[in-house]
Amino acid sequence: MRDGRPDLERAAAELAERIPEPLAPLARLAYNYRWSWHPNGPSLFRDVDEHRWKQCRENPVHLLQEAPMASLHRAANDDWLLERAARLEADVRADLERPWSDDFEWDRPVAFFCAEYGIHASLPVYSGGLGALAGDFVKEASDRALPFVAIGLMYRQGYFRQRIDASGWQHEYWVDTDPDRLPGALVTGEDGSPVTIEVPVAERTVRVQIWRVEVGRVPLFLLDADLPENNLMDRWISSRLYVGDPGTRLAQYIVLGVGGVRALRALGIRPCTLHLNEGHAAWAPLELAREQVASGAALGEAIESVRGQTVFTTHTPVPAGNDTYPADEVAHAIQQLAGELEVDSSEIIRLGRTHQDDEHEPFGVTQFALRLSHTAGGVSRRHGEVAREMWHGLWPDTPVENVPIGHVTNGVHIPTWVGGPVHELFDRHLGADWLERAADPATWEAVDSIPDEELWDVRCRQRAELVDFARARSVRDRLGRNDLPSYVEAAVRSFDPEALTIGFARRAATYKRLLLLGHDPERTLALLGGDRPVQVLLAGKAHPRDDEAKGTLQALFNLKGAPVVGERVIFLDDYDLATAAWLVQGCDVWLNVPRPPLEASGTSGMKSVMNGGLQLSVLDGWWAEGYDGSNGWALSGEVEHDHAAQDARHAGELYRVLEEEVVPTFYDRNANGVPSAWLERIRASLRTLGPRFSATRMLAEYTAGAYRPRATVDR
Ligand SMILES: *Cc1c(COP(=O)(O)O)cnc(C)c1O
Repeated sequence: MRDGRPDLERAAAELAERIPEPLAPLARLAYNYRWSWHPNGPSLFRDVDEHRWKQCRENPVHLLQEAPMASLHRAANDDWLLERAARLEADVRADLERPWSDDFEWDRPVAFFCAEYGIHASLPVYSGGLGALAGDFVKEASDRALPFVAIGLMYRQGYFRQRIDASGWQHEYWVDTDPDRLPGALVTGEDGSPVTIEVPVAERTVRVQIWRVEVGRVPLFLLDADLPENNLMDRWISSRLYVGDPGTRLAQYIVLGVGGVRALRALGIRPCTLHLNEGHAAWAPLELAREQVASGAALGEAIESVRGQTVFTTHTPVPAGNDTYPADEVAHAIQQLAGELEVDSSEIIRLGRTHQDDEHEPFGVTQFALRLSHTAGGVSRRHGEVAREMWHGLWPDTPVENVPIGHVTNGVHIPTWVGGPVHELFDRHLGADWLERAADPATWEAVDSIPDEELWDVRCRQRAELVDFARARSVRDRLGRNDLPSYVEAAVRSFDPEALTIGFARRAATYKRLLLLGHDPERTLALLGGDRPVQVLLAGKAHPRDDEAKGTLQALFNLKGAPVVGERVIFLDDYDLATAAWLVQGCDVWLNVPRPPLEASGTSGMKSVMNGGLQLSVLDGWWAEGYDGSNGWALSGEVEHDHAAQDARHAGELYRVLEEEVVPTFYDRNANGVPSAWLERIRASLRTLGPRFSATRMLAEYTAGAYRPRATVDR
């Protein structure tokens, strides 16, 4: 059986042959993203050629393919670099060779399906929060030695890139990904040609090949329809994340779900559980049911049995975010599948309606996933409640509190998100194996004994690094926009490594209420320009067709005429995982003001917490269960229909908290020049939130409550 592993080994060996021989360990390390969350991984590759490393978005395969010979020779003669490479390789190997977790059979993995994965900035198959969560999930599964495989799509153009023009309007562009430059390999069969599978889409057969990307111990299989055998439109199926054309998007989901299960079969992988991360992959259990029907089961029985194996996580409390399709489009798309299931497509479409018999209701992927899974949940406690109300119609005879939708609150993969200085600080104070014990509250009690000076020093270092990064980026961005010279010069002078730094980075959707920050321009300007100044970093993309959200970004840019705004506010173009890492590591305060109850969870704030950032957020999503009065700041989280009134009230609360609490606490220093009350709050935040909002705790809840444990798996 060929599952792509030999293909990756061959790719690494070929790369090793093209570079000086002593660098061979780097070529092997390059083909497994495990380096990316090892504390010494990124710096190792950076030191081969720092300029090239940035040029190729920290993609080590690309780096080693393209670095000038002079750099490679220098690296090959750098004993210290070679020693670090040898140590990193030994660490990675030891990690990969650990025994599997006892709770699961190593050869019956959990199969995790998601339309996007945010593994690393160099693998552009993600758009935002869903992908970042999926990436963190996969890495945590690797760290916990859980038998786990991940399935997604190899988008040839990824998600759009963002450029803002001088008027503040967002433009989108797409960049082709060259798969030969990625740390992945096409899965080939015994004869050396690519393994392909066939996916029935409408009246056509779409041929799909499979890329394998190694994420620690977890293989990520990415399906790719860009093959000459497919017609030109079908080749577009794996072009872009969430393509605009609904027919193509439906085809993406069929390729992901049906194709994903077929790919697992072709690779000889027998999952114990299917985990559908968001409804996009809802066709996967149907494909499992089809197999059972093909071997004689009745459809109802087959679906019952498949349900027992399927776990579903919903992420979207915004009704419009739950994809729906007109029934006739779905009927057209699944005509062959229905034929193989020996039913009329209307029997399948019914399962995707809230009211099954309402012929006018479109087909919804979330309803479909809910009906095909035995365990379903939202991504925070509050989102669980919202989801039970939202989908109550599927269980009309059940009281809303008994609707079978629970929740597992999201968490973040700590080693991915903590900055180097904070990581070292925790190594010193939380005990050597603190990452293994990250979900245990006792681990984090040790933060109480971190001395003020040490904690403050680490915070200041991470802020200063962010300020350097943001200044350089903003000068470049403003020059690139052909902005006014005075505004460009303001960027050069901008940002003070000692000033209170607030981050606000998230999708520029209207409900995120970016404009609350400028609700009362005078008060905002006073905060920015006071003698205890506040500086703000902003980033985020608006959906290409969301002109309202783009208008919000533009309205914000209209404020740039005030000199203090030019110096104290930076918008970073093209928010991605790399920018997110800088921001969450360096910002003192992480701000979030969504309109309740539309924030399912949010995870960027958790990333900031792990770095000693403090939350200032509406009590929605994860913060509704995280805030305890001492570990950050909160704005009220009530649901209200008068949006203008709510905005005015929240803006008032926001200004008050900033003016009366955040700014004084940050700037009041003791005799040693240290803000001790601020540091006390950071300790409270780490102690109370550290154990609860890590991916370690999240994955433990899924393994204990949702995945099928060893004992119940039939051999
Ligand atoms: C973590 C992350 C997100 C999710 O952030 P929210 O808190 O949900 O806004 C989105 N995009 C990127 C690039 C991230 O790293």
